[in-house]
Amino acid sequence: MNNTIDLTIKSQYIKNYLNGYPLISKDFIVDWSKVKAEGTIVNLHDERKKFIAKGYYGIQNKGYGWVLTSKKEVNIDVAYFTDKIKAAIKYRKDFYSDQNTTAFRVFNGEGDGVGGLTIDYFDGFYLVTWYSLGIYAFKEDILAALKSQVVYKGIYQKKRFDAKGQYLDDADDFVCGSRGEFPLIVKENGVNFAIYLDDGPMVGVFLDQRDVRKTIRDTYAKGKTLLNTFSYTGAFSVFAALGGATKTTSVDLAKRSRSKTQEQFTVNDINVDGQDIIVEDVFNYFKYAVKKEILFDVVVLDPPSFARSKKHTFSVAKDYVKLLKEAIQITNKGGVIVASTNYANFNMLKFKEFIDKAFKELGGKYKIEQTFSLPKDFKVMDKFKEGDYLKVVFIRKVL
Ligand code: SAH
Repeated sequence: MNNTIDLTIKSQYIKNYLNGYPLISKDFIVDWSKVKAEGTIVNLHDERKKFIAKGYYGIQNKGYGWVLTSKKEVNIDVAYFTDKIKAAIKYRKDFYSDQNTTAFRVFNGEGDGVGGLTIDYFDGFYLVTWYSLGIYAFKEDILAALKSQVVYKGIYQKKRFDAKGQYLDDADDFVCGSRGEFPLIVKENGVNFAIYLDDGPMVGVFLDQRDVRKTIRDTYAKGKTLLNTFSYTGAFSVFAALGGATKTTSVDLAKRSRSKTQEQFTVNDINVDGQDIIVEDVFNYFKYAVKKEILFDVVVLDPPSFARSKKHTFSVAKDYVKLLKEAIQITNKGGVIVASTNYANFNMLKFKEFIDKAFKELGGKYKIEQTFSLPKDFKVMDKFKEGDYLKVVFIRKVL
């Protein structure tokens, strides 16, 4: 059983919690110094000792913990987590019955009532990700709750504990059931992905881009050339090739991206020889493409929020305009730039300002055709808009 302590909310922040704000910040609490161990259950009160909400202490890049309930009588136990997981599964019932998509998010942190915890489904396997030592302290109850609600082949976990959300590679990621064999081949809208649940923090695909991949395949790829920057395993390239792209070019700095991308093409019976896979810094590639006057019909930009290479430090907040300007220069007139970011600290409005700035500085003209945020299985809370971190804009380069 986790320890419980009482805390007092600073008066000016009480209304946030009464309104359902889920994040616990130590600056919002009068007597935070009382809190010691992560995983402690904290009962939040006003200055007259009236109960406001109950949560847990766990350090993440976002805040110091999460509110779990506004009901004093609710205990944080197996029954509590079972209720949340049951509701989450019900919300995804269409995903469970879709034979064409066998990889999706089952539980999305605070969007499903428990910040700091996500659960993904990969064709019968479950992947639980713990975002703090605090939520990990509830591991037994959470796993018992999950096991009571699903039929599973096997359960894996990832620990992303430190303040930067870094992966902790201290132990085997396997939890229970069958270990399975990797790659595990899952489907997304009929397309295969090779998934590894036992090989580091990233499993081979980012599920939150599902609707964007489908849109590229179904609407933007036919007869076009596509450049996929920061391509990782080449998921956008695979969808473009299957949508009839004449050629895809995938660029990523990581050496393993070549074999990983080849594998994703191969499991979809696409001949890898017809596709370019380039291991290089994207910024060098842009220079090369400009010099050689190589132009693309579709350019995908999906950088990490921060990245350091030998020559460049890239931060989305500082450098996205520059990145867009490079992309604009190697996009055909009438072509499309798919600009994406998962940076939570600016919103769609700000992102569209970056796009406008980039085109203005180059004297270009554009039209925004479509925008995307998180897909349905990445459930977000109305009361916590920052949770909806994904922003994707399809931009037509008019001039
Ligand atoms: N767009 C991908 C996910 C990108 S993950 C997808 O949809 O699956 C971020 C990737 O950016 C990583 O694979 C990393 O190796 C790569 N990366 C980071 N900095 C880079 C740089 N300067 N040039 C090229 N690739 C870079």
